[in-house]
Parts: sequence; structure tokens; C-alpha cells
Amino acid sequence: MAAAHHEPLAEPAQEILRRLGVPPAAYANGELRTISPIDGGQIGRVRIDGPADAARKIEAAHAAFQVWRSVPAPRRGELVRLFGEELRAAKADLGRLVSIEVGKIPSEGLGEVQEMIDICDFAVGLSRQLYGLTIATERPGHRMMETWHPLGVVGVISAFNFPVAVWSWNAALALVCGNTVVWKPSEKASLTALATQAILARAVTRFGSDAPEGLAEVIVGDRAVGEVLVDHPQVPLVSATGSTRMGRDVGPRLARRFARAILELGGNNGAIVCPSADQDMTVRAVAFAAMGTAGQRCTTLRRLFVHESVYNQFVPRLKAAFGSVAVGDPLATTALVGPLIDAGAYEAMQQALAAARLAGGSVAGGERVDLGRPDAYYVRPALVEMPEQAGPVLEETFAPILYVMPYTDFEDAVRKHNAVAAGLSSSVFTRDLGEAERFLASEGSDCGIANVNIGTSGAEIGGAFGGEKETGGGRESGSDAWKAYMRRATNTINYSRALPLAQGVSFDI
Ligand code: NAD
Repeated sequence: MAAAHHEPLAEPAQEILRRLGVPPAAYANGELRTISPIDGGQIGRVRIDGPADAARKIEAAHAAFQVWRSVPAPRRGELVRLFGEELRAAKADLGRLVSIEVGKIPSEGLGEVQEMIDICDFAVGLSRQLYGLTIATERPGHRMMETWHPLGVVGVISAFNFPVAVWSWNAALALVCGNTVVWKPSEKASLTALATQAILARAVTRFGSDAPEGLAEVIVGDRAVGEVLVDHPQVPLVSATGSTRMGRDVGPRLARRFARAILELGGNNGAIVCPSADQDMTVRAVAFAAMGTAGQRCTTLRRLFVHESVYNQFVPRLKAAFGSVAVGDPLATTALVGPLIDAGAYEAMQQALAAARLAGGSVAGGERVDLGRPDAYYVRPALVEMPEQAGPVLEETFAPILYVMPYTDFEDAVRKHNAVAAGLSSSVFTRDLGEAERFLASEGSDCGIANVNIGTSGAEIGGAFGGEKETGGGRESGSDAWKAYMRRATNTINYSRALPLAQGVSFDI
């Protein structure tokens, strides 16, 4: 068994964990090897939870719910406010750990923590705004209203590419809504989960004794332990983020026991570049959307439709950006593109590029960038000019590949844009108001996110986040997404002494 501290990134990772108060037993000698994609070296050995451990934690969260649901919502908001404070204090550490564990460049690692802080602020305000309606009734002497109640234990399953932000979108809302939370992080990102849990524990300590034990639990492991969460009768809602393949399994399992699902699955996001688009800005927007996070965002731009009249001007500029972007160690250099998560991601990318060539595509980039690290997978982002939308273009490959296709007619481009199975994010680049509005109209983009003159990725927390079709239909984060984390009761109160029945029904005894 190799000692973790022989690896260069193990020491900085474990130092952060120590500083945040994570007990070494959780990450030093466990069964699950945690690898940094930056150099392919081991950074921890995490103790995994078996099915019995997972069930015990879910039951603890269920017991905690019996207490937490009665704590007034603004007081629950106070816990989330304290958590936001602790995140601010730990931002540099947690952001760096995100970079070490999943390979994000520093500003994206820090940005992920900022997103956690932002959703805490949002949730604190929300804790005084869990509004129900008062509704006109047809009966005299009656009042009708709706009340929102806590739901129970909220299960959160998260993906490797947003290892902590996605949990926080769910947890901040779930906690102010009066729920308790059990989190199954990605098996590729357990250390950041343990660190986040320790930061939350600081807030809980400061909050005081009305925060019950078991308020927020983490279960570490792979899909087997995730399945325990999905199947447990004491978990009324599971919010699951990951591949469509995962959602196809999790969705029906939850439906079978009538539990609720928030599914945040794969994307195959597209954009349209119209003749009037501001080309300077569009090149920058497309570059970030397609190459940021090394193409490993659910909202990464993967398909680009460029009007034939600007194609020969625009595409060479974009190609130049793809050819010159700095690829490298995100911690030791100022590279904008870090590593792929692992060998599997690299192989999937090469397979997609081979399929694209077979389908008539012309590939620029995509080759491995040699940093002398055999176990790390750095690639030059690929720009693939395709004669039509076919083969690998129709599927999400979780790597930096942008398929570019010319178009002639705007309506036809929108039709092709919508002709894939996923429905997460989309953009149009135009100065033409008619095109912009058509893209946003009901017959335009069919995605959960539709933008004008900004890229497909990099959403703010204030809006509801999620997508349609095979992206799963769930919504998280801002707007009224909180309603999915509560149960609604309709209440009718008779303050008269008569008993009029609805719809004029008479039943005189
Ligand atoms: P993944 O599907 O391999 O794993 C995601 C999580 O699901 C992990 O924690 C995994 O252990 C768990 N899991 C897998 N199968 C399961 C099962 N049958 N039962 C219970 N748990 C199970 O995804 P990944 O490779 O970590 O992440 C990349 C994928 O996630 C991409 O498809 C990306 O588009 C998607 N994603 C979507 C969003 C969104 O909001 N729509 C956000 C981030 C990532």
C-alpha cells in the first residue's frame, strides 16, 4: 500500500484537510484511492461507507429532521448565514483543494466556492420568503391558503466536475426549507466533500444546540452506496447530478417508490452565430464556453452553427484561439486549460474524434499534450468542422470538443440546434432583435437555459438551473426552485357556523 505523502500533491491536499479539521482517519488509510488529475498521483485514501453505514447515516438524518423541521425558518437561515461566513474564511483552501482534486484552474476553483457563498446568501433571504398563497374561495365564511412544509431527508448525488457547488445549491435550499441532507459525492472527489462537511461543522458549532446531530451527513463511495440512498424509504427526494446513464437508473428507481427526483443530467449544448454577431466578443464567449474547465462542464458548448456568410471569417479566428490556448498544470502555470479527469475521459475523447473523422469531420487539435506525466491526461482542445450534425455530434462527450457546422437559414439552424436528446443550455449570438427573440420564444431553443450574446456556461445562482429532455427536467438553485424541496398543503378554514359544500353539492342530514 503506497503511502499517500510520497506524491507531490498529497501533502498540500492533506494540509488543507488538516487545517479544516478533517480527521486523518477519514482520508489517510481508507479503501478508495483519490487521485489528482494534475499529475495522476494519489492524494488520499478515503474510508468508504458500506451499505450499513449509509443506512445508519440516513436514519440519523431522518431523526434530525424530526427536530429541524420545527426550528423557525429564519433561524434555519441563520445556520446557512454562518455557513456562508465559514466558506468565506475557507475560500482559498477549499478552492485550492477543488483544483488539486479535479484539476480546475485556480480562478475556477475559487469561483466554485464563490458560487457556494452566493447560494448561501440567496438561501438566507429565502428563509424569510417561503411564501404560500391566499386563494379566493367560492364559499362564504371560508378562507383558503397554501402552506409549505419541510419534506424530510434530501439525498444529494453529485458529479465530479462541480464537486462542491452542486451540493451547496441543494443543501443551502434544503436546510432553510427545514430538511436534513445526506450527500453522496462523486467517488472522484471525496476529499472536497470531506472538507466541505468540516466547514459546515464549524457553522453548526457556532449555531448552537438547536442544530440536531445528523443534520447533514456525507456517505462516501461509488454508485453502490448511491443506490442505498436512492432506495431508502426515509428519503423522500433525491437530487441527482451526473450522466444521463445515471439518471436512467436513478429516475425509475425513485418513481417505483413514489419518491421525488430532481435530475440534472448530461448536456449537449449548442449556439448559433448569426451574420450580425459581434465577432470579437463571440470568439471570446465561445472560447470560454467550449474550452473552460477543459470541456468538462455540463453546460460546455459542444455544437456551433455558424452562418455561411461569416463562416470563413469567424471559424479561422476561433481555430487560432483553440490552437494557441495554454494547456498545462493549472497550479504551476497560468494555463487556461487543465487536465481531463482521467484516462477514461481521454479515451472517450479520442473515440469521438475518430468517429467524427469517419463521418467526414475535419479535426484540428485533440492530441495529448505531453507534460512528461504518464498518468495525467492533458489535451489540446479540438475544433471539428463537420459537414452535418451526425454521429458523435449527437452525443455528449465529456471533453473539449467543439463541432462547428455552417448554416444558411436561421429557422433551420434552430431546428438542428434542438435535434439532440439533451436540453440543458443554449445561446444565440446576434445584434438582430428578431433573431434573439425568436431564439427565446416557445418555438425557439428547447433548453432550460437560453442566452443571447453570452456563452452556454457560467450560470448565476439567482436563476433556476436545469434542463429539459434527457437532461432530466430538474431545477435547482434560484428563482422558485425551492418549492421542489418542500411539500405543499392546501388549507381551507371555515370561520362561519354554516357548512356550504363546494360546487353547490347538498348533503342534508
Ligand atoms: P456519473 O453519472 O458517472 O456520476 C455522477 C454521480 O452519480 C456519482 O456520484 C456516481 O457515483 C453516482 N452514480 C452513478 N450511477 C449511479 C446509480 N445507478 N445510482 C446512484 N448513484 C449513481 O457522472 P460524472 O462523470 O461524475 O459527471 C459528468 C456528468 O455529469 C456529465 O454527463 C455532465 O453533463 C453531468 N453533469 C450535469 C450537471 C447538470 O446540472 N445538469 C452538472 C454537472 C454534471
